[in-house]
Amino acid sequence: MAQYQDHMLILKSRPYREADILLTLFGIKSGKIGAVAKGARRPKSRLAGVYPLSYVICQIYHGRSSLDTLNGVDLVDGFPGLQKDLSRLSWALLLADLVDEMFSERDPAPEVVPWIIAAWDRVAGEGPGLTTALSAGWQLLKLAGYIPQWETCHICGEIPVQNSVGVDWEHDVMYCSRHLPVRSQGASEGMAVSLGSLRTWQRWMTLDVTKLGNYEAKGIIGEELFFVFGQYIERHIGRMPRSWQFVREVENIAGKERNRLF
Ligand SMILES: [Zn+2]
Repeated sequence: MAQYQDHMLILKSRPYREADILLTLFGIKSGKIGAVAKGARRPKSRLAGVYPLSYVICQIYHGRSSLDTLNGVDLVDGFPGLQKDLSRLSWALLLADLVDEMFSERDPAPEVVPWIIAAWDRVAGEGPGLTTALSAGWQLLKLAGYIPQWETCHICGEIPVQNSVGVDWEHDVMYCSRHLPVRSQGASEGMAVSLGSLRTWQRWMTLDVTKLGNYEAKGIIGEELFFVFGQYIERHIGRMPRSWQFVREVENIAGKERNRLF
């Protein structure tokens, strides 16, 4: 039972009771928490400015309830550019949903916060949506402990240099073009992707947060990496958030089911 202050991302909000707002927050110190902003839907409330997809400093009371109480909030960055078009908004919402799905309550993971701030900032400022969101998404997976071994072929141990490769998201391994046909007869879950997609993914995995949005995935590479990411999330995290479908509709991304070989 204590009052505390934390730098937090507002991931989600929804109306609660008569005039309150229920927030899903992700703080540097506290990790993911649920908090009630009492009276925040009243026009003159000092909490009236709380809205999702923003970075804030919160004054919070943690009592006996599983929900904390938000007592004060100062906006650090509201990323106004995200509201300018549906594409940017959809990528930002997807990242908020991914953080919500991937991390448990009150289990701090402070490294998540700079990646999301950088991603929202890049997308708000006309950075490449798909590249920024997916490469940040892979960094979140890495922080959550998922690190696929997609560097060398699982059978021959060689770095693939030509044709397509097979990425297996069930066992987190990869196959070169020579060993892909062997694998595709098995029961693993995976997909054949171009070498270009693999190289782009590998660069994303070693990115520094200041370089988020680099190594842009365009055209077929973007679609392949979008599909691989979606399948990976579904396999390891569970149900895809609704924002995934929203992104797909906004960006008009067709499923690459035809590339599924495993
Ligand atoms: Zn091989």
